[in-house]
Amino acid sequence: MEGSRVHPTDPTREPEARLSASLPWMNGQGPSPAPGGTRPPSGGGPAEGIFGPSDLIHADKVASAEKTSTYDSPSEGIAERLERYSPARKRAAGMRDYLAELAALGHLLPAHLGNRADVEYRAGKLERCGCWLLLRDYFTLGQTRLVDGRFCNQPLLCPLCAIRRGSKLLRAYVEKLATVLYECQGRYGAFLITLTVRDGVDLGERFKHLRRSLWVLNERRRKFQNRQSKQWTEAARALAGVGFLEFKRGRGSGQWHPHYHGGWVCSEAPDAAALSREWLAITGDSFIVDVRPFRSMGQLGGCPTAEWPQLLASDFVELAKYALKFSDLSLADNWEAFRLLSGRRLVDAFGWLRGVEVDPSLTDEPVEDGDAPYFEILARHLAGSYVQSSRRLVMPEDERAAAVELDAGQAAAVAAAEVSFFR
Ligand SMILES: [Zn+2]
Repeated sequence: MEGSRVHPTDPTREPEARLSASLPWMNGQGPSPAPGGTRPPSGGGPAEGIFGPSDLIHADKVASAEKTSTYDSPSEGIAERLERYSPARKRAAGMRDYLAELAALGHLLPAHLGNRADVEYRAGKLERCGCWLLLRDYFTLGQTRLVDGRFCNQPLLCPLCAIRRGSKLLRAYVEKLATVLYECQGRYGAFLITLTVRDGVDLGERFKHLRRSLWVLNERRRKFQNRQSKQWTEAARALAGVGFLEFKRGRGSGQWHPHYHGGWVCSEAPDAAALSREWLAITGDSFIVDVRPFRSMGQLGGCPTAEWPQLLASDFVELAKYALKFSDLSLADNWEAFRLLSGRRLVDAFGWLRGVEVDPSLTDEPVEDGDAPYFEILARHLAGSYVQSSRRLVMPEDERAAAVELDAGQAAAVAAAEVSFFR
């Protein structure tokens, strides 16, 4: 049977070496879409319609995604950004209060909820997270940047840090995915793959079960593609993929309901019915899978443009929306999930999407035009919302000219004054 299957090209071959100098999203500008350019997905074409019995999984996700945006866009205005950050800060304050209540239990605090010192430490970090943010409005470029701020770096506990971490993750993977799709020259398309395991009361046990099942599926793919096994798997249609784990309560059962949401680059759409049978054989408790093409597949022209990452991002938001966002859980569930899953790998990739480096800082990358003027805005969180407490116009060219006229002592004094102002 495997003879009729197409072995993907060698996944160890890196495409960037040839492409990095020419891809438009690497330098921020590129050619217009070629008229009549070919559509990238082929090899059977992106599947139309819905597979599997889990339509509600995606219907629910799309509806939620439209309600709230959990990712930052560089073209979003300062006021709009701060408006989104305010409810994130409010949720963090709710979590801080919940942890303060736990800490107040003292020696009565149940051991499975942590020790008092750790609870107080986490609450203290949440208290200070996002209390000030420094942003830049590049009004001539129509772009904004978050360049500094106080962050707690607890994305599974803090929605503001989740937004920032998710935005960095999104940017890194979307750029790589655009590169991989371009390299595939229309022979592969991107698909959203959802896999679930049965609901259960023990989050830790369900997490291990899901991870173990995914490992088995991935091993089958790897061995078939490396010709170490003749056992066919639907996952072997994938050249590359990235997956995110999501945890929430099942609507019917009220128990923990873990999911895997993957973005796979495939030669053709995986057969949902076959994947369902395979997944049931692996998990022993769930046949629920969902396979559908990225909606952006029909919009990408044959020639890569600066719009490709933006188009792919809309699908990626759907894919990864909940990967680092636990704020839809109750506070108690959020704390339990944080304690069990913090430090665990919730994002995993294979093939050409392996090894994507995500910038660990929570601030934005600088703009490409370093000489563009901007307004620098200090935002402070006061009485439940962000206020723009100071605003100054900065002309980088003028500042550089002025700087060379300062001697070393004067420059150090200016730097020290700036640090004390913002900290
Ligand atoms: Zn935070």
